[in-house]
Amino acid sequence: MANQKRGRKPHLQPSEYHTCIQCKETKSASAYHICKSRPTGLQGKCKTCQQLDGLKFRHDNPEYYNGNDESYFVKNKELWNAYQRKFLKADKNSIVYCIETPSGLYIGSTKAYLYIRSNTHRKDYRKWKRGIAVSTTPDLHKAWDKMGGDDWLKTLLDIKIIEEFDADMLPHVLKQKERDYIRKYEAQGLPLLNINWTKKRK
Ligand SMILES: [Zn+2]
Repeated sequence: MANQKRGRKPHLQPSEYHTCIQCKETKSASAYHICKSRPTGLQGKCKTCQQLDGLKFRHDNPEYYNGNDESYFVKNKELWNAYQRKFLKADKNSIVYCIETPSGLYIGSTKAYLYIRSNTHRKDYRKWKRGIAVSTTPDLHKAWDKMGGDDWLKTLLDIKIIEEFDADMLPHVLKQKERDYIRKYEAQGLPLLNINWTKKRK
């Protein structure tokens, strides 16, 4: 992709492109931090991937942030929103996932990185708790309420991928896959927290 946008002044010649070892996208030299010990003089991962790693670390290690985790995302709202815009739309593999709580299972699907999707779940729950947003997943939120403390966060760190599909899967086909799983688990008598879907079916 030679027509990547090049906003900043590159460290090397702007004609030099590198493929990021993580996202596999080919980007101009300015998209990488300098690393003198590497033959290219640049980091193997692009700046975006490095920043994402930082966000992922924060998400995976909430104990390091002593409850200030949320304030990090508030302070870096613009940065965070930009990532969400990019990665919710990006051509990542489509997945159907499952959040397990003691009250039941929540089945969802996304084209985003799983940890980004789990962060929006977390954000939605906190907004609902503060009374600043209506819950779109009320049964999941009630199940988290019942758990108390910070245990609900653990269910987000333990999200499981049920099935992964190609990146070019159409949204309505992915949604159908999600519903197939809900139906399947319902048939097995498992308690589900997908209230909207079960209501619509009746
Ligand atoms: Zn990258």
